[in-house]
Amino acid sequence: MYSLCGVHTHLELLAEAKRLGMHALAITDHGPALGGRVNSVFFDRFVNPFDGVRLLKGMECNLAKEKGGIDLPAKYLPYMDVVLLGIHHNTEAAVGSAVLTDLLCTAMRQNPCVDIITHLNDPSFPVNFAAVAACAAQCGMAIELNNSKTLNKRTTPEMTAALVDACAQAGCLVAVTGDAHVITELGRDEAVQPYLVQCAFPPELVVTRSAESALGFIERRRQYKKAK
Ligand SMILES: [Zn+2]
Repeated sequence: MYSLCGVHTHLELLAEAKRLGMHALAITDHGPALGGRVNSVFFDRFVNPFDGVRLLKGMECNLAKEKGGIDLPAKYLPYMDVVLLGIHHNTEAAVGSAVLTDLLCTAMRQNPCVDIITHLNDPSFPVNFAAVAACAAQCGMAIELNNSKTLNKRTTPEMTAALVDACAQAGCLVAVTGDAHVITELGRDEAVQPYLVQCAFPPELVVTRSAESALGFIERRRQYKKAK
């Protein structure tokens, strides 16, 4: 569903999404804590010229230094269709799994603007899957199942299976994403799907099961945030 890509332009990504018959494409580069990523022109000026492909503008935010904070620039929030949150290398991994889990869950509870929690199956930043999945279920957020990490073996089969299982147990929503860092990975999900099949994951919890369900999730979150 979403792309995070520094090599290809937004126009190239949208053209490829149209060629592939995708109904929507979320472009969600990293938040500013990873350095120089935020392009204001994209948020307030860029208009998608491709009919039939809905562009969802967003950002993959990072944990801020102060506990509970995220690096989302408030001025861009009105332009955002989707907000992601993940743990990246601006956060100290050596604090250990219990502290990382607490930092993440605190940020989730304090930032209702967040819609999706990214790549929890990152071996560099281990968290308690059951605790984060339960928190996501409470907050109405989805947990990302990242095709690129699985495809490119930047995680382990055990971690991915454990994450999918924890989401099923908690009954939280999941979003299967391409996380395409190269254009050839756009819209792909084949590396993640076997894990869903293996644990008979409830299809109604997969927000990306169709274009309607993905856009329905975005719209429900928009209404929820508006009411906050
Ligand atoms: Zn990430």
